[in-house]
Amino acid sequence: MEMPDAPLILVVEDERPIVRFLVASLGGQNYRLAVAESGAQALAMIDARLPDLIILDLGLPDMDGVEIIDHVRQWSRLPIIVLSARDQEKDKIDALDRGADDYLAKPFGVGELSARLRVALRHLARAAEGEDGCAGEFTSGDLRVDLQQRRVYVRGEEVHLTPIEYRLLTVMITHAGKMLTHRFLLREVWGPGYFEEVHQLRVHMANLRRKIEPEPARPRYVLTEQGVGYRLAAED
Ligand code: CA
Repeated sequence: MEMPDAPLILVVEDERPIVRFLVASLGGQNYRLAVAESGAQALAMIDARLPDLIILDLGLPDMDGVEIIDHVRQWSRLPIIVLSARDQEKDKIDALDRGADDYLAKPFGVGELSARLRVALRHLARAAEGEDGCAGEFTSGDLRVDLQQRRVYVRGEEVHLTPIEYRLLTVMITHAGKMLTHRFLLREVWGPGYFEEVHQLRVHMANLRRKIEPEPARPRYVLTEQGVGYRLAAED
């Protein structure tokens, strides 16, 4: 039975088997679902029904899925999770750069899908409460960041970060659980002119990991998505 205040998820996908899989996977959970099979239909439904989250296929019959991201991002931060095929690496990064929150590569499982939805909807709830994630404290496992005092602790011991490392960490905390592209992190930490300096980003990230990760070679907090970017493990 559908709960009237359950989050409304708009699925934008033209492949019937994937739509069926999504409906079957999410139907039993506490969500309401709407399905659009074309870009035009999606745009109409977004404006008419104001979904809480969009699951968006990039390859639509009448338009490129990124056009829908551009449309939504003009007025809203509602979470968008992109579905992409394995050979659409570049499209996926482009979608993240243009404001998608996350992506799932086809084929994906129910567990992965549910986890991504939970992270995205939790962000939405926090944003609605007016918290931008940069107030108070962040904890994940043995890592504790006091955002007021700008102090970082690992297993209760204070670790000293450079200003850049601290900025990197707080940008990831603000977007904990989300996939952040190299370009996004460079823009947030260094500013708009630095999006080609991926090497610089890697160096600072390696230094940050050495300070906060128990085993830098097998990171637990800052996870790498090869060729795409980084994700800070969400506190769960
Ligand atoms: Ca498609």
